[in-house]
Amino acid sequence: MEENIDHNQIISLRPQFLSDFIGNKSIKTNLSIFINGAKIRNDSLDHVLIFGPPGLGKTTLSQIIANEMNSSIKVTSGPIISKPGDLAAILSNIKKNDVIFIDEIHRLNHIVKEMLYSAMEDFAIDFIVGEGPGARSIRISLPNFTLIGATTRPGLLSNPFRDRFGIQLQIEFYKEEELSIIISKYSDKIKANINNKAALMLARSARGTPRIALRLLRRVRDFASDHKTIDENVVILALNMMRIDSLGLDNTDYRYIHYIHFYHDNGPVGIETITAGLSEDRGNIEESIEPYLLQIGFLRRTNRGRIITENAINWLIESKLFYNFV
Ligand code: ADP
Repeated sequence: MEENIDHNQIISLRPQFLSDFIGNKSIKTNLSIFINGAKIRNDSLDHVLIFGPPGLGKTTLSQIIANEMNSSIKVTSGPIISKPGDLAAILSNIKKNDVIFIDEIHRLNHIVKEMLYSAMEDFAIDFIVGEGPGARSIRISLPNFTLIGATTRPGLLSNPFRDRFGIQLQIEFYKEEELSIIISKYSDKIKANINNKAALMLARSARGTPRIALRLLRRVRDFASDHKTIDENVVILALNMMRIDSLGLDNTDYRYIHYIHFYHDNGPVGIETITAGLSEDRGNIEESIEPYLLQIGFLRRTNRGRIITENAINWLIESKLFYNFV
């Protein structure tokens, strides 16, 4: 159900300390102050909520926090903890100042959330034992711990739940220069030889997202198997073959923009209609496709639905041949 991570065995491809975590300057500065304070008091760090689109480093940052606190981390996720008993099993095994990481925390059900409330606030959980008039509540005390919740959908958390996290961190899309550093550092680890210009070019097509940057690097490396170094020519060839353009947009974005342009006169159109029209998963549209289109100014979200912008329409026209679609 949950995964215990030993510090010595943390997948070494991920950054391990705040100093290795690229970008996010103010998050790192604040966290190091909070972590130092907690260590000096020999107390657990306050509960942390990390939110932002997929692949921006929420899980990585949680592992870094545990590392910096010299604590163990238990990794689990919202959909996995389906019953109060599941949560109780995790909580009853923790030691003082441990970190519990719950990914997709917006997907926790109501009953589990209720139990988590008192665990977070009072470091105790209440159990009902027995049934009917004889039922009684038993309280079990827990050592102080830190809950780190990660979510791509902070809007789905109730205010009382959000308020229980003393530290709230929003991770934003990365700049090209930051992604190119992430690419270069990772390429050293996997022994892929990429030059600086090629790393920057790849970064430009990575939708502001480290996970995509690293995935592209691994794919591009395949195209360079005969070459010694990954240079700009290899990147251009590989991105072309994968039908990814210089903005990082691909056929999925093309279908999305084309659908709103062609069938709904550029919008506004509701998410339900788009989901049905494209036969795409709604979560994928809302979490992976739209945030980046909003970020680059190709899309606007209004009360009446999604509207694509003139930039998106121009891009659509220019990209028609590239995607060989319609
Ligand atoms: P999330 O949990 O937000 O979906 P992850 O933590 O799994 O994202 O990060 C995806 C990948 O990108 C991981 O391989 C991670 O090591 C890398 N990564 C993310 N953010 C950074 C960063 N700031 N510096 C270096 N590598 C990063």
